Amino acid sequence: MDIKILPLPAEKMKQKIADETKLSFGKQFTDRMLLVEWKTDRGWFDARIQPYAPFVLDPSAMVFHYAQEIFEGLKAYKWADGRVALFRPEMNARRFNQSGERLCMPAVPEDLFLGGLQQLLSLEKDWVPSAPETSLYIRPAMIAVEPVLGVNPSNHYYFFIILSPVGAYYAAGFNPVSILVEDHYVRAVPGGTGEAKTGGNYASSLKAALEAKKKGYDQVLWLDGREQRFIEEVGSMNMFFAYGNKIVTAALNGSILSGITRDSILTLALSLGYEVEERPIEIHDLMTDIRSGKVTEAFGSGTAAVVTPVGKLCFKDEVVQLSGGKVGKLTQELYDTLTGIQTGKRKDEFGWVKFVE
Ligand SMILES: *Cc1c(COP(=O)(O)O)cnc(C)c1O
Repeated sequence: MDIKILPLPAEKMKQKIADETKLSFGKQFTDRMLLVEWKTDRGWFDARIQPYAPFVLDPSAMVFHYAQEIFEGLKAYKWADGRVALFRPEMNARRFNQSGERLCMPAVPEDLFLGGLQQLLSLEKDWVPSAPETSLYIRPAMIAVEPVLGVNPSNHYYFFIILSPVGAYYAAGFNPVSILVEDHYVRAVPGGTGEAKTGGNYASSLKAALEAKKKGYDQVLWLDGREQRFIEEVGSMNMFFAYGNKIVTAALNGSILSGITRDSILTLALSLGYEVEERPIEIHDLMTDIRSGKVTEAFGSGTAAVVTPVGKLCFKDEVVQLSGGKVGKLTQELYDTLTGIQTGKRKDEFGWVKFVE
């Protein structure tokens, strides 16, 4: 599909933050965005790259009432040689359509998703920051915009991509976070939408996160929605536990989001000579293994923060420390290897990196 490129008037151009070390997460957006529409009787149409601007939507637009929405998250990195690199973007395109299928939304052809992203990025290249640990965060999303209050799949959608220059995810740096195992609220249930990247999952997670914050914890670790016995994931991260030279993560079960960072870490860990295991992780067993010292490290994985070390875990009223509350060796090695590949400092043996042309 041909993508129209609309002019960017000089007065719509924004000031870039001069000091890249001051970049926060997702508060500033670039000059342009991609927007494509879909209607039942037309399919995809009017693909355009236009100045970043608010949408004018009818208050009855379906997304506002029944949350028919999906999104993705990936990053573009500025390499030392000036090239701009993407990390496994085709995985995001594929997962976007899997989420869309669950929410009864139309599939975005992969060449529209990836081609549109490429064109947008080649116009917005100058927005990719280059200071250490900075990147351009990419947010593709789709919303139902038909102005009807009936509960049905919409007949009209917007697929759009916006871009935000971001700094290190945690202002405090690469330090261990504390995690509260949630034993009251649940995030997802078998047959629900846990495997889809959809806003509703996040809306329903806010209360638990807020209550955990009040108790002094950074994030919530979700248990399965049926028995509250098995580890699922953390906020917007998949969870790993190191047992010496073996790393263990929850097996994908339909209610866990299938992270691209998760998949990359499993592949990398194997190539670095570690054992990996995907299996159900029972919380009481896990606490026993942490207490006895069998679990040596824990970390979360996700695009936004890449790898996040976990220093403290609380379940019911028991608080346990992991790797002495410090960043573990394996966690550091995986972080260094993965960010090294993403930023061109290490060889990409897996063909994960795609450049912006
Ligand atoms: C996006 C997301 C992740 C991490 O996925 P990545 O592809 O690694 O960024 C994990 N859990 C949830 C709930 C998510 O939405």
